[in-house]
Amino acid sequence: MNIHEYQAKELLRSYGVPTPQGIVVHSPDEARDAVRSLPKGLCVVKAQIHAGGRGAGHFKDHPDVRGVQRVHSPDEAKTAAYQMLDRTLITRQTGPKGRVVHKLYVEAGCNIERELYFSMLVDRALRRIVIVASQAGGMSIEDVAEKTPEKILTVSIDPQLGLADYQSRVLATHLGLQGGLINDFAKIVRSAYTAFISLDASMIETNPLVVTKEGTLLALDAKMSFDDNGLFRHRQLLELRDPNEEDPREQDAARFGLSYVSLDGTIGCMVNGAGLAMATMDIIHEEGESPANFLDVGGGASREKVSAAFRILLSDPEIEGVLVNIFGGIMRCDLIAGAVIDACKEVGLKVPLVVRLAGTRVEEGLSLLEKSGLNVSVATDLGDAARKIVAAVRSRRTA
Ligand code: ADP
Ligand code: MG
Repeated sequence: MNIHEYQAKELLRSYGVPTPQGIVVHSPDEARDAVRSLPKGLCVVKAQIHAGGRGAGHFKDHPDVRGVQRVHSPDEAKTAAYQMLDRTLITRQTGPKGRVVHKLYVEAGCNIERELYFSMLVDRALRRIVIVASQAGGMSIEDVAEKTPEKILTVSIDPQLGLADYQSRVLATHLGLQGGLINDFAKIVRSAYTAFISLDASMIETNPLVVTKEGTLLALDAKMSFDDNGLFRHRQLLELRDPNEEDPREQDAARFGLSYVSLDGTIGCMVNGAGLAMATMDIIHEEGESPANFLDVGGGASREKVSAAFRILLSDPEIEGVLVNIFGGIMRCDLIAGAVIDACKEVGLKVPLVVRLAGTRVEEGLSLLEKSGLNVSVATDLGDAARKIVAAVRSRRTA
């Protein structure tokens, strides 16, 4: 689960990470009032979406308007808010579709001396939390990693020993910090690490963490993600969820206890078992097309659950074909077939459907599909299924 910048800052602040003072607003008038109540001088109005690159991003149909704007008066803040609210912001991270801005964060501005990069995340290969730091902050870290990897220092934390102070000092040296800032930085690392562990976070990123002209450190941007599997331990975090930022199909699927992830391709997949679902996606790629989703209906799903899964899958407007790949172990093939037929009759199937069934009650399943009168083609194995759906999708495109 991801949260907004203002929420991440609030959490990090409560653990001791210094951040500028700020107020979240929902209207131009509120933005004006926010600037009135913040200390006099520069303020910054920032679009709140679950994506970075806002400062360099622009609004749809307004190429000159950015997602982070510096303002010097309450009225300027009002104008900036008017330009941003309810409009679509396009950044490198949102993709070309962009995201609609529903909230803004109005923040006290600061005098930046240097912009640094500082983050913490789980490195799955190392099976450790790692800290990543770079002097090249403020810009896209992906570019830094590609063009000047030597500017990035990564330090991993031993889970038995925890974060050691010397590691923070090594990072501080790499960042070129001196004097009292070394200790200030060590405190920030310690606070962020405590937040990371206590909240089952999977990522904390401050880009930039700045050295101000006054000689202090401040997290000017903040991003946080949490491990969904740890959320049951942190009910308070669930309240930070923003439905506007989540894929409606993913939300629907979550209500039915289904594992569903929206993807960019056009072939909808319904599979049982995460491993088989991954293999199905791979083999679709192998045939030269892309999956529209990952969907694992699980082992012992009911007919209602499977039928809901199929409906959710079909509701994706980008879909050009559907591949059902079920290995019936605990799951019965006839139950799957029945659920697919139900869902198709309910919503109307407008795209080609290829079904590959194997295992428990496969004959019953196949005969149900045959008798259903649906336009479904049956595949003998996974390779055959992928070839058939790709061929069907392509011939429909050229038809
Ligand atoms: P994004 O990463 O989405 O572009 P940031 O929060 O990093 O958004 O803001 C972009 C840039 O705007 C920062 O690198 C910084 O230079 C400037 N900025 C952001 N917040 C402030 C602030 N409170 N005061 C001064 N400058 C800011
Ligand atoms: Mg940033």
